[in-house]
Amino acid sequence: MTAKNAKLGQNFLTDEDAAKRIVAALGDVSRSVVVEIGPGAGALTELLAENAGALVAIELDRLLATELRYKYSRYSNVEILEGDVLNVDFRTVLKRTIGPLDDLRPVKAERVKAVGNLPYYITSDILLRLFEFHDQFDVVVIMVQREVAERITAQPGSSEYGLLSATTQLYCNTELLFTLPPSAFSPPPKVHSGVLRLRVAPRFDALGVEARSFISFLKTLFAMKRKTLVNNLKKDFPASKIKAALQEAGIRADVRSEALTLDKTAEVFRLLKNS
Ligand code: SAM
Repeated sequence: MTAKNAKLGQNFLTDEDAAKRIVAALGDVSRSVVVEIGPGAGALTELLAENAGALVAIELDRLLATELRYKYSRYSNVEILEGDVLNVDFRTVLKRTIGPLDDLRPVKAERVKAVGNLPYYITSDILLRLFEFHDQFDVVVIMVQREVAERITAQPGSSEYGLLSATTQLYCNTELLFTLPPSAFSPPPKVHSGVLRLRVAPRFDALGVEARSFISFLKTLFAMKRKTLVNNLKKDFPASKIKAALQEAGIRADVRSEALTLDKTAEVFRLLKNS
């Protein structure tokens, strides 16, 4: 096997049962386009190639991408792209049909499923990239560092809840499916891992907020975790307006951002915008 590049987060999954559970968490993929992020040595790729309507696997490491391309050259449903997932324009890449190219009645896929044991050093960037293209995706099953999985699924009021939780929960319903010890990988990473299933279900319309400005509001709210919501907002809004908005929303003046549900946060946002 190829020498592993630690800088690219190359800890390959060796636990076959875990690989099966990850792929199973996507549901029926036989009529779906599946995007695999960082296929590496192919622990998930192998299962996906046999079952997916179409598989697009994106690998940054040239050697690994070449090996995979060679291995799957005879699979008409598999495409290996060598590249950085953070630069992929999913709208272009995913404009495809399922089945052999010469099929006269190709099946147009519904939204796409994404899967990957992520390179942990860019977990947040990959998530933001997927959210940017959220209209392309239906379900995302990813392995991340266990603490990150716990933060993403944390509920308001818990100490782990923060910007990553709020942003992810704005776009998706989140589930932590299971965790894995370092021994499930070769070489073993220093951290435990967690497998998440994210069902894409954006909440912007229901909350009555515009995506970009609301996310930028969240960034302000969570800029300094130890500060109260009022203190975090002071640089963007006059104190009197913040006080009035909190009062109208029935929220205590000393509340911390991590204690508010997305519904309440959106209410404060709307009140401030309209004041
Ligand atoms: N999926 C394989 C498995 O389960 O064994 C490999 C997982 S390994 C944790 C992460 C993989 O992502 C590596 O193969 C690494 O080369 C690849 N990778 C790292 N950065 C990447 C990037 N920016 N774009 C695409 N792939 C990347």
